[in-house]
Amino acid sequence: MIIVSACLLGVRCRYDGESRPDKSLPAMASKAIFIPLCPEQLGGLSTPRVPARIIDGTGGDVLDNLARVIDSIGRDVTEQFLKGAAEAGKIAKLMGAGAAIMKEMSPSCGVSFLRKDDAAIEGMGVTSALLAREGVHVISSDEISEEDVRYYSHRR
Ligand code: SF4
Repeated sequence: MIIVSACLLGVRCRYDGESRPDKSLPAMASKAIFIPLCPEQLGGLSTPRVPARIIDGTGGDVLDNLARVIDSIGRDVTEQFLKGAAEAGKIAKLMGAGAAIMKEMSPSCGVSFLRKDDAAIEGMGVTSALLAREGVHVISSDEISEEDVRYYSHRR
């Protein structure tokens, strides 16, 4: 079973009320068991919502209480991001997900990169960092392969 950032499957859960469907995933859906989820919604944030960024750190730093998540109007939404990550981790454990395909550059779901101002910095989002710490193989939405999907679909 594979956790998937829901926006990659066409679910309109992004901050702007839109999705970011990945062209390759629908064809793989018949060969895999995907579990779509949106950590920011699971954390209690509304859709649409104000976009947020991790300030001075990465998702791992947020988990370690070394950085905060602040939205574009200055509200601290760290608790919602932590709650969303914890709920995603709970679902992954409950369902025995061996892998997660996560949307690159998101403060929740980023795998290799996060957005900082108009640039990209290296680092994982909060939920991806938590899933990785819990032993889930986290795959970037920029590096989806049919082999990975086939392999992890049948692994717990
Ligand atoms: Fe997509 Fe993750 Fe952002 Fe939700 S939190 S909209 S699943 S990138």
